[in-house]
Parts: sequence; C-alpha cells; structure tokens
Amino acid sequence: MRIKFSSIWFLGALIVFLYSCKKTDELADFTEEEEILLGDKLAEAIVEDEEFNIIAEEGNSIPYGYAKSRLAEITSTSVISKGEEFNWNIYLLDDDNRQAFAFPGGNIYISSGMIFFLDNEDQFSGLIAHLVAHIDQSHITETLFFKYGVNGLKRIANSGSESDLKSIINDLELSNEFLSFTRGNELQADTLAITMLAETAQSCDAVGLFFTKTLNVQSNQQSQIIAAHRLDQTRIEDISQVVIANGCDTQVDDQSASRYQSFRNSLPR
Ligand SMILES: [Zn+2]
Repeated sequence: MRIKFSSIWFLGALIVFLYSCKKTDELADFTEEEEILLGDKLAEAIVEDEEFNIIAEEGNSIPYGYAKSRLAEITSTSVISKGEEFNWNIYLLDDDNRQAFAFPGGNIYISSGMIFFLDNEDQFSGLIAHLVAHIDQSHITETLFFKYGVNGLKRIANSGSESDLKSIINDLELSNEFLSFTRGNELQADTLAITMLAETAQSCDAVGLFFTKTLNVQSNQQSQIIAAHRLDQTRIEDISQVVIANGCDTQVDDQSASRYQSFRNSLPR
C-alpha cells in the first residue's frame, strides 16, 4: 500500500513539475517588451473606459508627486528585478470604492476610496510594495496566460482588439476567479514586498499593516482587491513570520500619519 501511495504521490508531483516547466517555457516566449506593450494597451483602454475616472495629473502635481515618490522609493530598491526595465507609473482614480490593481509592465492604479480608507504612509507604501512585487514577478501576466495562452497574450499585446482589452478589464472589475493570484504567488509577493520595504524609510512590516487594516473591515464591505487576495488571519501571521526572519526595522515613523493626511487633503474633492 505504501509503495502504491508514494507512486501516486510521485506521479502527481511529476505532473505538477512538468506542467510548471511547460508553463515557464511557454511564458518565456512572452518577452519583457510584450509585457510592457500589453500593460500599455490596457492602460489606454482604461483611459477610454467610462467606468474608470483617472484623476488628471495636470493641476494635481502635489498628490501625484507624493504617490510617485512612494512608488520610486520601492522600485529603486536593489531586490527588484525589473526596476530599470519596466515603465513604472501610478495613477490615482476618482472612485469611492476601495480599488487597487496593477497591469503587466509597471502601471499601478489606486482609488481615492482606498487612499481615504488607509491611515498612514506605511500602509499606503505596503499596498504599493505588494502591487510592485506582483508586477515585478510577472504574476499578472502569468494569471492572464492561464486564460489566453502565450499566443493569445502575444496577439493582445501586439494588436489587441477593443473587445479583448475590455474582457480583461471586465474580469478585473468583477474580480473573476482567474484574476485571483495563487497562494504561492501571494506568498512570493509578500516576501518580496517585505525585502523591498526593508530598504526604504517605511516599516518593513508595511505590507502586514496594509493587510491588517483591510482584514478588519466587515466582509460585505471588502473590496475586489481583498476578494482576489485570499486574505485571512493566517496570511497576516505568515507575513509576520517573514518579517521576524528578515530582522528588519518595523518602526512606523511618527510623522507617517501626518504626511499621509497632507497627501489625502491635496486630492481633488
Ligand atoms: Zn496580491
């Protein structure tokens, strides 16, 4: 019986291994340039989409300056792989819903509802670090790959039709299952976010502070980002363990909340 059980286990492990090799091989055909192209196509589609109201950068240099500094603080760390290669940018959305999402190649979107929900600079940086980690590790591209395959992704990146792009954005809005990240990807994103934050002036537990803040909201008020993030107490504990193992500085600077307050007040209302 024991032999049979281990044979089944071995076969299962072999299938998973072969599948992940196949996935990695196929995804390797989707180049960094194509990831950037795909992200840019989606960014253009968001601008055209009436569901999304991007706060204009013109006339809002103060809130954009603040958000871009927080992003640059994270993308300039040494542990990021695509700090130079990707076109990192952050867009603020005028939307009372708590929204935050990212596209392949470097574009990040955060809604005013999310910004007003958070309390300080560290929580905001924690959210950004987590999204940067997903982009850096191509997790969004990988998730889209499961639905479209590498040829589908190439087609959308190079000559994406409006309906293809709309379909990806609809899935994003509805938080369809396919856009949920795997637990493995989540753990990888949290771990990378912690190591990035450890090189910044923020608490290296900022990603934990962000998720703790969102976990404490009643489930019927959870935003899409949480629905797609398999958030529970275990997740917070896993983050804590990584922070402890890293031995990094978890201190939240006492001006973190007041700087963040000024950022919030600078947003158009
Ligand atoms: Zn995530």
